Amino acid sequence: MNSIELFNPAKPDELVWSGKETGPDALADIAASARRAQMRWSLLTGRQRHDRISAFIEAVEARTEALAERMVLEQGKLKSEAQGEVAKSLVEARWMLGRCLEEAGTIMASARPGIRAMKVRRPRGVVLAITPWNFPVLTPMRKIAPALVFGNAILLKPSPESPGAALLLQEAADETLPDGLVGLVLGGASVTAEAIRSEHVDAVTFTGSTAVGRKIMALAAEGLKEVSLELGCKNPAIVHDPADLDSAVDHIVRAAFANGGQRCTAISRVLVHEPLRQSFLKTIKPRLPEPGHGDKATLAPLSTRSQFDKVCRFVRSLDPAETEILAGGRPLDNSNGGYFFQPTLVEVKTSDSAINFEELFGPVLGIEFYSDIDEAIARANAPEYGLTASVFASDLAVVRAFEDGIEAGMIHVNHGTFPDENMPFGGWKASGVGAPSVGQEADQFFTRMQAVYEAV
Ligand code: NAD
Repeated sequence: MNSIELFNPAKPDELVWSGKETGPDALADIAASARRAQMRWSLLTGRQRHDRISAFIEAVEARTEALAERMVLEQGKLKSEAQGEVAKSLVEARWMLGRCLEEAGTIMASARPGIRAMKVRRPRGVVLAITPWNFPVLTPMRKIAPALVFGNAILLKPSPESPGAALLLQEAADETLPDGLVGLVLGGASVTAEAIRSEHVDAVTFTGSTAVGRKIMALAAEGLKEVSLELGCKNPAIVHDPADLDSAVDHIVRAAFANGGQRCTAISRVLVHEPLRQSFLKTIKPRLPEPGHGDKATLAPLSTRSQFDKVCRFVRSLDPAETEILAGGRPLDNSNGGYFFQPTLVEVKTSDSAINFEELFGPVLGIEFYSDIDEAIARANAPEYGLTASVFASDLAVVRAFEDGIEAGMIHVNHGTFPDENMPFGGWKASGVGAPSVGQEADQFFTRMQAVYEAV
């Protein structure tokens, strides 16, 4: 059994957590308990499930400060961002809770005399949720809430880079839900592969990188298990002719740099209409956030050493023939050796430059200029990803061209890339596969359809 040790990204000498991976015997027990718990859970009425999940959500809410503290220590989030993450998780979970008492199927018109035909949604069974380090509460809660609402048990396998919040979620579940219904599995690639192969796991929901998503899909395919994959990104914003440039830039800065630029929905490229070149640059530079320690800081550090090294290496290797650093471009000197990187603006002069295609996941924003909106949309669509995108424009024809032409699962007009709890959350192309976990459509993953013919 491997050990896990975590260090504070803002002060990497500080050990903030240590523990052990889940061993094979413990994993088998956790999965079998989840199976037993799920069989009983699925027999409860919607109201009974509603009340138990509601108590669980309250137990999570009561741990808001502890969860936020864990995220600050393990993942480097600003305290305000960490508190905001817990609050958003609760809003989403409470929206999903309402579905306990909504329709569970449809009565069809009879095709034969004496037969009542129904389409009924049934639980999948035991769902395995594999989550990344960047939202240690939001992403697990996005999977726990719909899994339980629709009558499933869930095994949560959080990232080994930020498991502390998951331990607190497990504690809240132990306090309020039947034994075994929410199980916690700790570890990396091999533990995850073993969990996917467990005979007790019926479906796999994964959030993480596209490269790992491909491996998860292949592993799940061995057992013909349903998958939902929420994957990597390279999200563009197009700035054409906004009515209010200041407001457009505020939206972009927030969407680009929140959580240190480590959001899957972060804007990492901006395509700016050529006539706005000077005014856009003049407006964005003074709005960049402040990295560092202390209450005034508005930019979180990179969350892990490998993430920090990746961003440093990438920016150092930018080709001056293709790009020009307009702001930042270096790690922040700080006495604690924290993984802070300056907010960085890079002008991209060659549209096939790697910075337009590679997911960096850091506070680095590429800026390109364009003359023609169709060309801008084509460039925005060029990467393999298609998670989210924004346009800032007044011209209705430009808005329509963007809406009809952009290849992304979630799109925003005159608005940064922040999603709501009642809307489907998911990507196109290499950014996602299968049904989303958020919003009405979550039942397409967390339930399976049964055709019922009832002779009366
Ligand atoms: P990751 O793909 O490295 O890891 C995700 C999870 O998979 C972790 O729990 C990890 O332990 C596990 N894992 C890693 N390698 C594995 C392997 N070979 N086999 C089985 N399991 C394995 O992702 P990350 O670095 O934790 O998170 C950052 C990535 O997540 C970025 O690419 C980001 O875009 C993506 N992300 C996507 C969304 C979305 O909704 N689309 C949301 C958040 C993050």
